[in-house]
Amino acid sequence: MSIKLVKSYQIKGIISCKTGLRIGGTGGIIQIGGVDNPIIRDPLTNYPYIPGSSLKGKIRSLLELKYGKIESDGKPHKYCGDSNCFVCRIFGTSAGDQKDVTLGPSRLIVRDCYLTEESKEKLEKYRLEKGLPYSEVKFENTLNRVTAEANPRQMERVPAGVNFELDLVYRVFDTGDGGKTDEDNLERVREGLKLVQEDALGSSGSRGYGKVEFAGLKLIQNDGTEKPFNL
Ligand SMILES: [Zn+2]
Repeated sequence: MSIKLVKSYQIKGIISCKTGLRIGGTGGIIQIGGVDNPIIRDPLTNYPYIPGSSLKGKIRSLLELKYGKIESDGKPHKYCGDSNCFVCRIFGTSAGDQKDVTLGPSRLIVRDCYLTEESKEKLEKYRLEKGLPYSEVKFENTLNRVTAEANPRQMERVPAGVNFELDLVYRVFDTGDGGKTDEDNLERVREGLKLVQEDALGSSGSRGYGKVEFAGLKLIQNDGTEKPFNL
Protein backbone atom coordinates (compact mmCIF):
# COMPACT_ATOMS: atom_id res chain seq x y z
CA MET A 1 0.00 0.00 0.00
CA SER A 2 1.25 3.44 -0.80
CA ILE A 3 -0.06 6.91 -0.36
CA LYS A 4 0.52 9.75 -2.77
CA LEU A 5 -0.36 13.45 -2.77
CA VAL A 6 -2.55 14.12 -5.80
CA LYS A 7 -3.25 17.84 -5.38
CA SER A 8 -3.98 20.53 -2.89
CA TYR A 9 -6.71 23.11 -2.90
CA GLN A 10 -6.58 26.52 -1.29
CA ILE A 11 -9.79 27.86 0.17
CA LYS A 12 -9.68 31.61 0.62
CA GLY A 13 -12.16 34.26 1.60
CA ILE A 14 -13.21 36.51 4.45
CA ILE A 15 -14.41 35.76 7.98
CA SER A 16 -16.58 38.60 9.04
CA CYS A 17 -17.48 39.24 12.70
CA LYS A 18 -21.19 39.94 12.95
CA THR A 19 -21.05 40.26 16.74
CA GLY A 20 -18.11 40.82 19.10
CA LEU A 21 -15.63 37.95 18.91
CA ARG A 22 -13.68 36.76 21.88
CA ILE A 23 -10.82 34.28 21.58
CA GLY A 24 -9.03 34.46 24.87
CA GLY A 25 -5.30 34.68 25.34
CA THR A 26 -3.73 31.93 27.43
CA GLY A 27 -2.41 34.36 29.99
CA GLY A 28 1.12 33.37 28.97
CA ILE A 29 1.89 36.97 28.08
CA ILE A 30 1.41 39.43 30.90
CA GLN A 31 -0.05 42.69 29.73
CA ILE A 32 0.70 45.74 31.81
CA GLY A 33 -2.50 47.63 32.53
CA GLY A 34 -4.41 45.11 30.48
CA VAL A 35 -8.00 44.02 30.98
CA ASP A 36 -8.97 41.02 33.11
CA ASN A 37 -9.75 38.78 30.17
CA PRO A 38 -7.55 39.74 27.22
CA ILE A 39 -7.98 38.41 23.71
CA ILE A 40 -5.24 36.70 21.76
CA ARG A 41 -3.03 39.02 19.69
CA ASP A 42 -0.07 38.89 17.39
CA PRO A 43 2.83 39.78 19.73
CA LEU A 44 4.65 41.78 17.03
CA THR A 45 1.82 43.94 15.71
CA ASN A 46 -0.58 43.72 18.66
CA TYR A 47 -3.39 43.09 16.16
CA PRO A 48 -5.99 40.51 17.15
CA TYR A 49 -6.10 37.36 15.03
CA ILE A 50 -7.98 34.08 14.90
CA PRO A 51 -5.65 31.16 15.61
CA GLY A 52 -5.97 28.40 13.01
CA SER A 53 -6.23 25.91 15.87
CA SER A 54 -9.36 27.65 17.22
CA LEU A 55 -11.12 27.60 13.85
CA LYS A 56 -10.02 24.06 13.02
CA GLY A 57 -11.14 22.84 16.45
CA LYS A 58 -14.54 24.44 16.01
CA ILE A 59 -15.11 22.99 12.53
CA ARG A 60 -14.06 19.58 13.84
CA SER A 61 -16.19 19.60 16.98
CA LEU A 62 -19.33 20.68 15.10
CA LEU A 63 -18.85 17.95 12.50
CA GLU A 64 -18.18 15.37 15.22
CA LEU A 65 -21.39 16.44 16.97
CA LYS A 66 -23.42 16.31 13.78
CA TYR A 67 -22.19 12.86 12.80
CA GLY A 68 -22.14 11.28 16.26
CA LYS A 69 -18.35 10.91 16.25
CA ILE A 70 -17.76 12.17 19.79
CA GLU A 71 -16.44 9.66 22.32
CA SER A 72 -18.91 8.41 24.94
CA ASP A 73 -17.11 10.44 27.64
CA GLY A 74 -17.60 13.61 25.58
CA LYS A 75 -13.98 13.79 24.52
CA PRO A 76 -12.96 14.45 20.89
CA HIS A 77 -13.02 11.57 18.42
CA LYS A 78 -9.97 9.33 18.80
CA TYR A 79 -8.31 7.37 16.01
CA CYS A 80 -10.95 4.75 15.27
CA GLY A 81 -9.01 2.35 13.05
CA ASP A 82 -11.15 3.06 9.99
CA SER A 83 -8.86 4.57 7.36
CA ASN A 84 -11.95 5.90 5.56
CA CYS A 85 -13.24 7.81 8.61
CA PHE A 86 -13.66 11.42 7.51
CA VAL A 87 -12.77 12.87 10.92
CA CYS A 88 -9.51 10.93 11.14
CA ARG A 89 -8.66 11.74 7.51
CA ILE A 90 -9.53 15.44 7.48
CA PHE A 91 -8.34 16.44 10.93
CA GLY A 92 -5.62 13.88 11.63
CA THR A 93 -4.82 11.92 14.74
CA SER A 94 -2.54 12.31 17.72
CA ALA A 95 1.14 11.62 17.16
CA GLY A 96 1.11 8.66 19.52
CA ASP A 97 -1.75 6.79 17.84
CA GLN A 98 -0.97 3.45 16.25
CA LYS A 99 -2.40 4.11 12.87
CA ASP A 100 -2.61 2.45 9.50
CA VAL A 101 -0.09 4.14 7.21
CA THR A 102 -2.78 4.50 4.53
CA LEU A 103 -4.62 7.00 6.72
CA GLY A 104 -1.97 9.57 5.80
CA PRO A 105 -1.49 13.06 7.25
CA SER A 106 -4.34 15.43 8.10
CA ARG A 107 -5.91 16.78 4.93
CA LEU A 108 -6.92 20.15 6.28
CA ILE A 109 -4.48 22.90 7.19
CA VAL A 110 -6.09 25.92 8.81
CA ARG A 111 -3.77 28.91 8.89
CA ASP A 112 -4.02 31.72 11.42
CA CYS A 113 -6.47 34.33 10.15
CA TYR A 114 -5.17 37.88 10.10
CA LEU A 115 -7.01 41.17 9.77
CA THR A 116 -7.80 42.44 6.29
CA GLU A 117 -6.07 45.70 5.36
CA GLU A 118 -9.41 47.49 5.53
CA SER A 119 -10.05 46.23 9.07
CA LYS A 120 -6.55 47.20 10.18
CA GLU A 121 -7.31 50.77 9.06
CA LYS A 122 -10.68 50.71 10.77
CA LEU A 123 -9.20 49.51 14.07
CA GLU A 124 -6.33 51.97 13.82
CA LYS A 125 -8.87 54.78 13.54
CA TYR A 126 -10.80 53.35 16.47
CA ARG A 127 -7.62 53.28 18.53
CA LEU A 128 -6.77 56.90 17.76
CA GLU A 129 -10.31 58.18 18.35
CA LYS A 130 -11.28 56.15 21.38
CA GLY A 131 -7.95 55.01 22.76
CA LEU A 132 -8.89 51.36 22.45
CA PRO A 133 -6.15 48.90 21.52
CA TYR A 134 -7.78 47.36 18.39
CA SER A 135 -10.54 45.90 20.53
CA GLU A 136 -13.53 46.75 22.67
CA VAL A 137 -14.10 45.97 26.33
CA LYS A 138 -17.48 44.72 27.33
CA PHE A 139 -18.57 44.79 30.94
CA GLU A 140 -20.64 41.86 32.06
CA ASN A 141 -22.40 41.37 35.35
CA THR A 142 -23.11 38.29 37.36
CA LEU A 143 -25.91 39.07 39.74
CA ASN A 144 -25.98 37.59 43.20
CA ARG A 145 -29.37 35.86 43.26
CA VAL A 146 -30.11 36.86 46.87
CA THR A 147 -28.58 40.28 47.35
CA ALA A 148 -28.83 41.32 43.66
CA GLU A 149 -25.31 42.61 44.07
CA ALA A 150 -23.53 42.89 40.74
CA ASN A 151 -20.17 41.33 40.21
CA PRO A 152 -18.81 43.04 37.08
CA ARG A 153 -16.05 41.67 34.92
CA GLN A 154 -14.37 42.91 31.79
CA MET A 155 -14.36 40.92 28.58
CA GLU A 156 -12.16 42.05 25.74
CA ARG A 157 -13.54 41.41 22.23
CA VAL A 158 -12.87 42.07 18.59
CA PRO A 159 -15.69 44.47 17.66
CA ALA A 160 -18.44 43.53 15.23
CA GLY A 161 -17.72 44.58 11.66
CA VAL A 162 -14.09 43.45 11.68
CA ASN A 163 -12.93 41.09 8.91
CA PHE A 164 -10.18 38.49 8.84
CA GLU A 165 -8.62 36.62 5.93
CA LEU A 166 -9.52 32.94 5.75
CA ASP A 167 -6.74 30.71 4.45
CA LEU A 168 -7.19 26.94 4.30
CA VAL A 169 -5.36 24.22 2.43
CA TYR A 170 -7.05 20.92 1.67
CA ARG A 171 -4.91 18.08 0.38
CA VAL A 172 -6.10 15.17 -1.70
CA PHE A 173 -4.20 11.92 -1.27
CA ASP A 174 -4.49 8.79 -3.36
CA THR A 175 -4.82 5.96 -0.87
CA GLY A 176 -5.58 3.39 -3.55
CA ASP A 177 -8.80 5.10 -4.65
CA GLY A 178 -7.32 7.67 -7.01
CA GLY A 179 -8.09 10.42 -4.47
CA LYS A 180 -11.86 9.96 -4.60
CA THR A 181 -12.41 9.69 -0.82
CA ASP A 182 -10.63 12.98 -0.17
CA GLU A 183 -12.37 14.69 -3.09
CA ASP A 184 -15.71 13.57 -1.63
CA ASN A 185 -14.72 14.72 1.86
CA LEU A 186 -14.23 18.28 0.61
CA GLU A 187 -17.99 18.48 1.06
CA ARG A 188 -17.47 17.87 4.78
CA VAL A 189 -15.17 20.89 4.96
CA ARG A 190 -17.82 22.99 3.24
CA GLU A 191 -20.40 21.68 5.67
CA GLY A 192 -18.10 22.36 8.64
CA LEU A 193 -17.72 26.01 7.64
CA LYS A 194 -21.46 26.31 7.28
CA LEU A 195 -21.92 24.81 10.76
CA VAL A 196 -19.53 27.42 12.22
CA GLN A 197 -21.70 30.12 10.65
CA GLU A 198 -24.80 28.63 12.25
CA ASP A 199 -23.02 28.26 15.60
CA ALA A 200 -20.37 30.62 17.00
CA LEU A 201 -16.63 31.03 17.14
CA GLY A 202 -14.65 31.70 20.31
CA SER A 203 -16.18 31.96 23.75
CA SER A 204 -19.59 32.99 25.09
CA GLY A 205 -21.41 31.97 21.92
CA SER A 206 -24.57 31.31 23.91
CA ARG A 207 -24.47 34.92 25.10
CA GLY A 208 -24.31 36.33 21.60
CA TYR A 209 -20.57 36.50 21.03
CA GLY A 210 -18.77 35.13 18.00
CA LYS A 211 -21.37 35.12 15.24
CA VAL A 212 -19.32 34.99 12.07
CA GLU A 213 -20.03 34.85 8.36
CA PHE A 214 -17.83 33.59 5.56
CA ALA A 215 -17.86 35.69 2.42
CA GLY A 216 -16.38 35.47 -1.06
CA LEU A 217 -15.08 31.94 -0.56
CA LYS A 218 -13.19 30.47 -3.48
CA LEU A 219 -11.52 27.18 -4.20
CA ILE A 220 -8.14 27.60 -5.89
CA GLN A 221 -6.50 24.69 -7.70
CA ASN A 222 -2.77 24.07 -8.08
CA ASP A 223 -2.80 25.56 -11.59
CA GLY A 224 -4.27 28.81 -10.26
CA THR A 225 -7.78 28.32 -11.63
CA GLU A 226 -10.43 29.20 -9.12
CA LYS A 227 -14.13 28.79 -8.65
CA PRO A 228 -16.63 29.94 -6.03
CA PHE A 229 -16.85 27.77 -2.91
CA ASN A 230 -20.35 28.59 -1.78
CA LEU A 231 -21.58 27.32 1.56
ZN1 LIG B 1 -12.10 8.10 13.00
